[in-house]
Amino acid sequence: MGKALIIGAGGVASVVVHKCCQVPDVFEEICIASRTLAKCDALKEKLDGGRTKIQTAKVDADNSDEVIALIKSFGPDVVINVALPYQDLAIMDACLATGVHYVDTANYEPPDVPKFEYKWQWAYKERFEKAGLTALLGSGFDPGVTGVFVAYAQKHHFDEIHSIDIVDANGGDHGYPFATNFNPEINIREITANGRYWENGEWIETAPLEFKKTYDLPEIGPKNIYLLYHEELESLAVNIKGLKKIRFWMTFSDNYINHLKVLENVGMTSIEPIMYEGKEIIPLQFLKEILPDPASLGPRTVGKTNIGCIIQGIKDGKPKTYYVYNVCDHQDCYKEVGSQAISYTTGVPAMIGAMLVMKGLWKKPGVFNVEEFDPDPFMDALNKYGLPWKEDFAPVLLDPAEVHA
Ligand code: NDP
Repeated sequence: MGKALIIGAGGVASVVVHKCCQVPDVFEEICIASRTLAKCDALKEKLDGGRTKIQTAKVDADNSDEVIALIKSFGPDVVINVALPYQDLAIMDACLATGVHYVDTANYEPPDVPKFEYKWQWAYKERFEKAGLTALLGSGFDPGVTGVFVAYAQKHHFDEIHSIDIVDANGGDHGYPFATNFNPEINIREITANGRYWENGEWIETAPLEFKKTYDLPEIGPKNIYLLYHEELESLAVNIKGLKKIRFWMTFSDNYINHLKVLENVGMTSIEPIMYEGKEIIPLQFLKEILPDPASLGPRTVGKTNIGCIIQGIKDGKPKTYYVYNVCDHQDCYKEVGSQAISYTTGVPAMIGAMLVMKGLWKKPGVFNVEEFDPDPFMDALNKYGLPWKEDFAPVLLDPAEVHA
C-alpha cells in the first residue's frame, strides 16, 4: 500500500521496523534513517529478505533540509519519528515542505529546558490543515495507547468521564544496578522535572516524586507508584469534556530512586553545561553515554509491564468505574522482536498509528492527539499486533473514599 520513512534506529525504532515488516501489505517499503548509518544497516540486516523492502539512510533530523532531501529521494507516504523529542519540529517542517503525513511518540522538548508541552506542535495545526496532511502526535503507549483507552471508555462505557488515573507499572528486572528502559537522557529529564496533575480546571504542581501510593496491579502485584507529570495529561484535559481530575502514576523501585537521588545530589542529572578539560559538556548527556543502552536490555529483562487507565464517571445517571490495561511480558517481546517490553509497548502503537493513517482510517487534515480519532480500529489492532488489553469493571481505586457521580 505504501512507504514509511522511520527516523531513529534505537530501541523503539527497532520494534517499529520489526512490526512494519509484519504488515507488508501496508508497509511495502520502509527506509530506516538516523545519524549513524551502521545502526540502520544492522536493523536492515536482521529483517531483510521479507516482503517489505528495506532501505537505510544517514540523516541528521535536527536539520530540516536534510530530512527534506531524504523525503524527496525516498518518497514516503508517512514519516514515523522515533528519534528524540528534540527533532519533532524539524521533522514536521520537512513533512509540510514535502506533503507527507507525520507520526511521533513524544512531544517536542527544547533541549535546553525540560518543558513537556504540546504548544509548539499544536501551533502547526493550521499549516497541516491547509496542506491536507495528518500529524498524529504521541502514538506510543503513554502517550498513545493510554489516550486510545480513554477514548474507547468514552465511546463505549461512559456518558461523562470524571476522573482518570493512568498507572504505568514496570515489574521487570534487568539485573543492572541502574539503567533506564528508554533513552536515559529523556527518561531522567522527565522524572526529575516537577510533578503536576490537573483538577477542576487547574494544574496543581508537586515536588518531583512527592506523592507515593502502593497499588496492587493485576499480574504484577503490589508496587510503589509515584505521581508524575506526563504529556497525555495535557491533551486529555482538553479533549475529554466533563473531566474533573486526571493524574499519572509510575512505578519505581527503591533501588532506582536511591541511585537517581545520588546522581542528582552530585549534579550528574543537570542539563547546565560545565567545562571539562577545556570542553563544554552537559552532565546528563555524559551520564547517558555511560549508562546501559536501553536497546541492549532485551535479553536480560524478565517480568512484566502493566499500563492502564482507571476511569470513573457516570453512565445512565449512575456512578461507574472501569479499568482497561495491557500486560506485556519482557521475555515474550524479546523472543518476538529482540527487545524489552518498554520499547515494544511504544513501537507497536507507533506502527499501528502509521498504519491507520496510511489506510485512511485515521487520516484528516490537521494536528491531532490519538484520543481525537475513533478508538475502535486502534483497539482491534492492539489485540492483533501484540498488545492485547483487558477490562475490569470493579477495580480497586487509588482514592477509595472518592465516589464520582
Ligand atoms: P534511543 O536513544 O534508543 O534511540 C533514539 C534514536 O534516535 C537513535 O537511534 C539515534 O540515532 C536517533 N537520533 C537521535 N538524534 C537524532 C538526529 N538528530 N537525527 C536522526 N536521528 C537521531 O531512544 P528510544 O528508542 O528509547 O526512544 C525513542 C523515542 O521514543 C524518544 O523520543 C522517546 O521519548 C520515545 N518514547 C515514547 C514512549 C511512549 O510510550 N510514548 C515510551 C518510550 C520512549 P543516532 O544517534 O545514530 O542519530
